[in-house]
Amino acid sequence: MQIFFPKENEFESRVSVLPETVNKLVELGIDVEVEASIGKTLHISDDLYASLGASISKDRDSSLSSSDVICRINKPEKEEIRLIKKNSIHISFLDPFNEIELVEEFARSNISAISMELIPRIARAQKMDALSSQANLGGYAAVIEASSCLSKSFPMMMTAAGTISPSKVFIIGVGVAGLQAIATAKRLGARVEAFDTRPEVEEQVKSLGARFVQIDIGETEQTEQGYAKELSKEQIKMQREGMKKVCAQSDVVITTAQVFGRPAPRIVTMEMIEAMKPGSVIIDMAVSNGGNVDGSISDEHVIHNGVTIVGLSNLPGKVAFDASLVYGNNLFNLLEEYWDAENKELNFDLSDEILSGCVVTHDGDIVNAMVKDRI
Ligand code: NAD
Repeated sequence: MQIFFPKENEFESRVSVLPETVNKLVELGIDVEVEASIGKTLHISDDLYASLGASISKDRDSSLSSSDVICRINKPEKEEIRLIKKNSIHISFLDPFNEIELVEEFARSNISAISMELIPRIARAQKMDALSSQANLGGYAAVIEASSCLSKSFPMMMTAAGTISPSKVFIIGVGVAGLQAIATAKRLGARVEAFDTRPEVEEQVKSLGARFVQIDIGETEQTEQGYAKELSKEQIKMQREGMKKVCAQSDVVITTAQVFGRPAPRIVTMEMIEAMKPGSVIIDMAVSNGGNVDGSISDEHVIHNGVTIVGLSNLPGKVAFDASLVYGNNLFNLLEEYWDAENKELNFDLSDEILSGCVVTHDGDIVNAMVKDRI
């Protein structure tokens, strides 16, 4: 069985596989091919990949059309799907609820497409959960980005030249990214507050030494997998009113709020931004998914009334080596779970709970219930 790792697009700093992961795949008995200069953004040479057992492909199209499994980070271009071998497996982030045409193309081309976003949240699949592995590093990178845009220090400093008060950081949304953002901001010495619509995260916030902001928005719901459900219009209004004061007192606001399969909720309004102190910084971690913050633009720093609004679409890419390492581990764990060492092939059993959750197309059909529902 041959796995091909194509090079990512020019906007991506992460790499889908590091040399050490190639080595682990080769040890399983898999033929690994990587596209020439795949590790360029991380200064990893083709020679290092080759020394650990990878073949280096100089002909991307030919490798796409001859491999049994293709693994990468970002979704492919539609035109490229037509080059891929029939009955092969394609594994990547896919954004399947918004990329219906891509999904249909995968089905038409008879390719089994796995969407890394849809790995179910069960204990057995935690080691394959790329949404979490990337969100964790994204949360860290958001705080580092905020501190570099802010003209204040995070920690309190008592010096002969005067006392510098700690920066105040407000984190909205306390999932994987939010928890890491809280922990990072605390480690840097900031005074941290946080809010989430799921009241059970209060304990986690407190255990990290941050304050949980109490805003009464009535009953909230979550899915079986732990994702927040959308709020009603009335609840959104109550939340915004409760948050305006906290934002106005904060030096940094980091928003991480997401609702699975839906556009991100709009939380920070222009009115709230205009009540903030000039020099404050907002990081909108949901910018690629519609945005939590009025006025945020993907991959731009927008300054409104002296407040810098940062919308970075690829925060894990700011720590590209570690993000690549854990993403590669997620892929390896997924492949190893289904590797049949005797027959040297993947045991692609769609009745398995993980595969039935993340396989979107198979045998010419769209097989994922959630994606089908959306179409
Ligand atoms: P996410 O990326 O879907 O959303 C980020 C956070 O935004 C969530 O905490 C959500 O409650 C919050 N949010 C949504 N709407 C909001 C609003 N209007 N205002 C404020 N906050 C809002 O979430 P996530 O990071 O993927 O994690 C969600 C939960 O699932 C967490 O408890 C996490 O620990 C858990 N989880 C479990 C597993 C597993 O069991 N395998 C894996 C990953 C995460």
